Amino acid sequence: MKSVTFADGTAVPVLGQGTWQMGRRWFRRRREVAALRTGIELGMTCIDTAESYDEGGAERIVGEAIAGRRDRVFIVTKVSADRATRALIPEACAASLRRLRTDVIDLYLVHWRGEVPLEETVVAFEKLRAEGKIRFWGTSNFDVADMEELGPGHCAANQVLYHPEARGIEHDLLPWSQERGLPTMAYSPIGQAGRLLRHKTLLHIARRHGATAAQVALAWGLRQPGLISIPKAGRPRHVRANHAALALELTPEDLREIDVALPPPNGKQKLVIW
Ligand code: NAP
Repeated sequence: MKSVTFADGTAVPVLGQGTWQMGRRWFRRRREVAALRTGIELGMTCIDTAESYDEGGAERIVGEAIAGRRDRVFIVTKVSADRATRALIPEACAASLRRLRTDVIDLYLVHWRGEVPLEETVVAFEKLRAEGKIRFWGTSNFDVADMEELGPGHCAANQVLYHPEARGIEHDLLPWSQERGLPTMAYSPIGQAGRLLRHKTLLHIARRHGATAAQVALAWGLRQPGLISIPKAGRPRHVRANHAALALELTPEDLREIDVALPPPNGKQKLVIW
């Protein structure tokens, strides 16, 4: 699988796995763990979660799924913005590490831009890095102005909404990040809760390729350099289908059709958050 290279040379595969809504229902637990493990076997080793997903329930599922496989995965989790303070981050990180059953988080993100001064969050992140509790830190739901305020430094990645119906970042944030070699993690790449699964244009293109609309949406996002896509699939068969999207090559005609039905931004758009 192609990968995106982080500042220190770490290669992260372009197709990962999301976990929002996992850990919510006890009777789905085994299937969710099996789905994540299926993805790991297929090389979808970047696993995204957050302390806020089902109050730690999703992190617990990840912890169970990666048992015995820790060295093969790249774990991304998030601290909620209101807890991204010098006083609260150490405990938030410790709790995530316990739930994930690991002693290091690969990438620790601040979940959205909140009220806490950025310098304070950065100092707290750097302390965790120095202590070996996280390998990289980064941001989520930060727009260009937030990234510029953050300034040059050790931010390793920014995670934002990006799918064919949510293209606002193509105007500024995505090129800004690409020019600086800052990896972008695209969340809700199939439109969240399956919204794009029945999209007429995507279905039309999918039929030409013997594929599904979900696969077209994934392949469309993955055409962007420096981008890691993190679809959530709670069923092994969906994970396998998502993996197959890596082999789907959209033609210029496909891309033109998407541009007509779901046009790129023609100016600045406010960053949309989930
Ligand atoms: P998504 O990945 O766009 O869509 C997930 C939905 O699509 C689920 O209902 C899933 O069903 C279904 N699905 C997945 N693969 C499928 C396939 N091949 N065929 C048919 N249906 C399929 O939405 P998302 O969960 O919002 O986003 C992905 C991840 O991004 C999240 O899980 C989370 O880790 C992250 N995220 C981050 C933020 C942030 O603020 N940083 C916000 C939102 C999301 P099943 O579960 O039944 O397979």
